[in-house]
Order: sequence, then C-alpha cells, then structure tokens
Amino acid sequence: MRLSRRIEGITGGGSDGWELFYRARALKAAGEEVLELTVGEHDWTTPRPILDAMHAAALAGHTGYAVVPGLTELRQAVAARLAERTGVATGVENVLITPGGQAGLFAAHMAVCDPGDRALHLDPYYATYPGTIRAAGATPVAVETRPDDGFQPRAADLDAAAQGARALLVNTPNNPTGAVYSRATLDGVAEAARTHDLWLISDEVYDTQVWEGTHLSPRALPGMAERTLVVGSLSKSHAMTGSRLGWVVGPEEAIARMIDLATVTTYGVPTFIQQAAVTALGQPALEREGAEVFRRRRDLAARTLDGCEGLRLLPAQGAMYVMLDIRPTGLSGEAFAHALLDAHRIAVMPGESFGQAAAGHLRVALTVADDRLEAALETLARFAAALAAEAA
Ligand code: PMP
Repeated sequence: MRLSRRIEGITGGGSDGWELFYRARALKAAGEEVLELTVGEHDWTTPRPILDAMHAAALAGHTGYAVVPGLTELRQAVAARLAERTGVATGVENVLITPGGQAGLFAAHMAVCDPGDRALHLDPYYATYPGTIRAAGATPVAVETRPDDGFQPRAADLDAAAQGARALLVNTPNNPTGAVYSRATLDGVAEAARTHDLWLISDEVYDTQVWEGTHLSPRALPGMAERTLVVGSLSKSHAMTGSRLGWVVGPEEAIARMIDLATVTTYGVPTFIQQAAVTALGQPALEREGAEVFRRRRDLAARTLDGCEGLRLLPAQGAMYVMLDIRPTGLSGEAFAHALLDAHRIAVMPGESFGQAAAGHLRVALTVADDRLEAALETLARFAAALAAEAA
C-alpha cells in the first residue's frame, strides 16, 4: 500500500548521516568495548529530588489524563523563567508544555508553515531539523555558517536567504558547534526576521550551559516577542532526556493553535512528569550542578588538546560538546571518525552528520567521566598527529 508523500519524505531520502553512531552501537551489541562520545546523553541519571517528586505524584494518584496545555503551576514556572530571561511579560497563555523540545520544534513549524513554505535553518544543525521541517510540510533551506566566524551566522547570508521564506530556526547555545550567539549576531537574526516578516523559532534547550558570554534570547530584542517561538526543555538542563518535558513560549494566538495540535497528537504530558518538572524548576542549584560538569570537561578538553598537531579545538562557548577541526589530517570528519573507531574503539560524531558546513570536523560529546574523557582525547590527539605527519 502506498504511504503518504509527507511521511515518506521526512528523511529526505538518502542516509541520515548517523552511520558512525549505528556502527558503534552494533559493535557494542556484539560485545566489544566502545567508548561513546556521540549522543548528548548525560552519564548520570535524573537528580534524586526530581525523581522523588515524580514518584510522590504518581503515588498520589496523578496517573490519569493530563490537561493538554500543561499544569497551570508548571506553565507559570516556565512563564516566570522566560519573563526573567527576556524581560518580556509572559503569562500562562504564552506557554504550551510539550513532550520534550523536539515536539515543541515540530509544533512550532506546524503553527507557522504552510505546505511548501521555505523554512530556514542554519548549517551545521541538530540532526532532526530538516526532517522536522519536512514533517510539517515545509521545505528546509540550510544557510551555511563558517568555522572562521566561530559558526556565528552572518547577517548578509540570512538576508539573502530570507526572501520569500516563512520561518527561521536558530539555536543558541548551539549543537553541534558550541557557539553562543553574540548580541551582534542576534541583532542580524532579528533584523532579517523583521525585514522579511519571518517567524523566528528559537531553540534554547542548552540555555543553562553557557561557558563564555551570556545567553541572550532573541525574544528579548525589539519587535521580536510577537514573531518568536522559544523552544525549551528539561532534557539537557536536568538530565531528564527520557522524561520528555519541554515547552514552547510565544504569542497567545500561536500557543492557542498549538494547543489544538497537541489535542490531536500528544494529548499532553503525564502529570507526574509535570509535577517533577515543577520541582526541577524550583531548585536552581540542580541545573547549576549539572552545567558545572560540562564546564569542567570543556576546560579539560581544551587543556588536553592544547597545541596538538593535526587538530584544532574550537573553544565551545556553551552546550555539552566540543568541535575539533581535523582538516590538517587531510581526512574528512567521516573518514577520521571511522578510522578512530576501527583503531581505538572510540566513537565521535563526524561533522558531516550535522551538515556540510561542519565538514572536516568532529563533534565530541563530553558525556563520560573526566579520566576516561582525558584518556580518549589523548588517544585521539596522537591519532590525529600521526595522520597529519603522514599528510604533510
Ligand atoms: N534541540 C537541540 C539543539 C538538541 O540538541 C536536542 C536534543 N539533543 C533537542 C532540541 C531536543 O531535545 P528534547 O526533545 O530531548 O528536549
């Protein structure tokens, strides 16, 4: 039987660029020891006070259908958080609770794109972006950023691509590059959105993990609150990837329509998870402690790879990864990553998994204990140096 063009088109045909990851998992399943520095998954579980709250809520009987837009108490907590970060008045009517940031990204594109609309995103990009846009019926258009600019998008590039587009998706702090967009960058983003009447979808799921500069939400910029949908999540900030708890914050009318969408898709997020989320947001120390681990490992990576022949570390300004420019080895990110997996059973993501702009780079997730990370990076550095010496 024929399936819909929409669902068959989600992947866009061809590979999803995650072969390295699947290979590493297959080796592990076959009993080999592989050190995985691939996905953005913490090496610890959800903090105890959050789990206690989840447990208590479930035992107290909160196991039935949830209210679709989210618990008022949680929507209030998210609204207060966004109001504080953006200086924009935010109420419950501006917040939809979603099953993770990913569902928020999909809802946001569904809310603003008609079939066939051009929806811009930046390259390199988080792996699901093009598929999310296609699933919403729109056409993804990648706008390249450059390693030499620290992967900050150029206003002129945005302006050139924005003609006739409907939406622009940005992500700061950025996965995979670790870039935290500067005020100047965000002024350029906002200018393109206002000039070309775009919706701005701002993926801020790493907003608690900032190592240099400060996180600025484009929603805070003049004339942007009315055209910005902020996507947030507890996955990264509170090690709650499996709980599926995120949100979209935006203009009331857009949120009301996304509640319609939630009614016919997710039908809300379990109440016991939402009550745990209220606890999580009420204890700022939890997110500070989680972020601290990645800050420490990011510094460790910088120290370990300093001066290494064959690669250059791009100092991450935020998020839980570092990018390595391995072009001096003469290999593509993909060839390097497969060779490293073959030789040392260390799995890192090829830059090419995240688009063309990250070709010749690797993304290393800082998701194993410090001593193992240090040893893996030392091995990787020796491997790159030997390749670079051969290439010279
Ligand atoms: N955006 C970015 C940039 C991400 O890296 C991720 C997860 N890796 C998500 C959104 C989605 O996260 P979740 O659905 O778990 O909230």
